[in-house]
Amino acid sequence: MEHLRIIDSPQSVNLQDYDPDDTGKLTKRDALKELEKLEEQLAQTQEMLYAAAQRSILIILQGMDTAGKDGTIEHVMSHINTTGCHVWSFKVPTAEELGHDFLWRVHQHTPARGMMAIFNRSHYEDVLVARVHQLVPHTVWQQRFEQINHFESLLVASGTIIFKFFLHISKDEQRSRLMEREDDTEKAWKLSVADWQERHFWKDYQEAYTDVLSRCGTHDAPWYIVPANKKWYRNYVIAQALVRRLAPHVAEWRTALEARGKTELEALRAYRAEHGTNGALPKSAEQTDDSNDQVLKGRDA
Ligand code: AMP
Ligand code: MG
Repeated sequence: MEHLRIIDSPQSVNLQDYDPDDTGKLTKRDALKELEKLEEQLAQTQEMLYAAAQRSILIILQGMDTAGKDGTIEHVMSHINTTGCHVWSFKVPTAEELGHDFLWRVHQHTPARGMMAIFNRSHYEDVLVARVHQLVPHTVWQQRFEQINHFESLLVASGTIIFKFFLHISKDEQRSRLMEREDDTEKAWKLSVADWQERHFWKDYQEAYTDVLSRCGTHDAPWYIVPANKKWYRNYVIAQALVRRLAPHVAEWRTALEARGKTELEALRAYRAEHGTNGALPKSAEQTDDSNDQVLKGRDA
């Protein structure tokens, strides 16, 4: 998977080195076929995560406007069971949120054991938009890289598996996606003058992202630089990264679940042996059930 760059230790990253148009020599047809299989595997993975309830998964999506954060959630997660997953979008902070430290609002939405959470934007906005638009002094956002690393280590030490995807698109691709929205009445609701205004800050954002990737890619919580100009490749790469890194955990969860199943079966056998029913439910319990059935049937009639 050499076309997906994983940053899992602090290092100097140069975004120029990564081609947003990269498709890893894969054809769209092959990628879509693979994606279907990967989505199935992802669904099974999530079932295991939920049932074993030992760990949680946090998926962070970052990228410029139109980079495909919503699209990724829609496509890659289409097979995920919503009982075990929540999606949270971080918008401009409210007055109450601004009254707290920048991680306060984020921590409330981190996933509990057994759960998966997807963040559409995240605490990284506090070193991106907050830096580019000087919403806080330089000294404040500078300290945040380390604070973020500590925060993420805390989550990992508490059982969370963290994925951070940077959806890397080119400035030209953003232009054509914004134009597309103007031509499509079904997508026009997503339009915002701010998106065009933000384009003036493209270079500043790329610099801010460079620092995020260079300073907050860690072994515990790696950054994945995803070539995202082609939506089908983006979806494929993300699904594959999830399935691959989670595979060893799935094996662990399966073992834990099998052990739990065995314990439950032994308890059930012991229970039956004690009541001498040789496998059937105790008669007294069955009779009670039957009589209840009769009462209910009588009532319906
Ligand atoms: P969207 O993702 O298009 O719904 O837009 C959400 C907006 O909220 C974006 O313009 C973000 O830059 C902004 N936003 C998210 N988090 C923060 C933050 N911590 N500080 C300031 N603006 C933020
Ligand atoms: Mg937007």
